[in-house]
Amino acid sequence: MIDFNEIPPLQSLPFYTKFHTTASVLRLDAVHPVVTGNKWYKLKHYLQEAQLSGKKEIITFGGAWSNHIVATAAAASLLGLKSTGIIRGEEPRNPGQVLLDAAGYGMQLMFTSREAYREKELPLEIDVLRMQNAVVIPEGGYGPAGARGIEELLQLLPQEFTHILCAVGTGTTLAGIANSGAKNVIGVSVMKNNMDLNVAVARLLKPGITMPEIRHQFHFGGYAKKTEALINFMNAWFADTRIPCDFIYTAKLFYAFDQMAREQFFCPEDNVLLVHTGGLQGNRSLPKGTLNFDP
Ligand SMILES: *Cc1c(COP(=O)(O)O)cnc(C)c1O
Repeated sequence: MIDFNEIPPLQSLPFYTKFHTTASVLRLDAVHPVVTGNKWYKLKHYLQEAQLSGKKEIITFGGAWSNHIVATAAAASLLGLKSTGIIRGEEPRNPGQVLLDAAGYGMQLMFTSREAYREKELPLEIDVLRMQNAVVIPEGGYGPAGARGIEELLQLLPQEFTHILCAVGTGTTLAGIANSGAKNVIGVSVMKNNMDLNVAVARLLKPGITMPEIRHQFHFGGYAKKTEALINFMNAWFADTRIPCDFIYTAKLFYAFDQMAREQFFCPEDNVLLVHTGGLQGNRSLPKGTLNFDP
């Protein structure tokens, strides 16, 4: 496991001073070569539960393209735990990189119909006895335990920020940031019209915590969709900041921030934090030469 008391690197963004914006990036992409970004922190309490209770297996749910599936497989393998991934939909004839990587980390993959998945039905092989010896993690690590890991990470940071921005999938990371007591927390949804997010995030907030703002206009067509403008932005962002990003999540976050900075959304006294949630391995699905940095 990584050292959860170590502060991940913070990198300032001098490029944005010309827009009168002071900002830094919390480089969660740099905490571990395989389990990158927010995933270790969302898994923290589930993994600790397995270790404390002596349970030997992690069971989790996800789509065939989910970073959470690979991260869980890799983390379980590092800790000597068995892992099982219940994957939505039929087994693809040509499995993508996520499934290949997860299987490479020893995860047992079980494919279920979309209906069974929606009902959170477990495959018959997973009987009561097996369940008693397993920690079950909801899809995408969504839940209070996931949010708590992120909240504890935010509490390590040595400075206060006036705004904290992150990309949003399930909303667990966003809720964890808000629960740390941070001010002006803004999430950038990477899905098109995912209006269920408000309820999903609200369910994870501690009493007295203000609902973070969620921006819905930076999806670039929807989950894992991209446009030429987004790819061009990723290359320009890397040239300006030397920070690589992924096209599914963090490019949409940084694009939103870039636009806000150029529109003078922030005041010169503000101190903005952007949370880099990792996901760079997702760029491997892009044709070679698309990006001006190695994925
Ligand atoms: C999983 C993931 C997210 C989404 O985090 P949530 O807590 O589900 O909102 C954001 N960025 C990257 C790179 C991810 O892999």
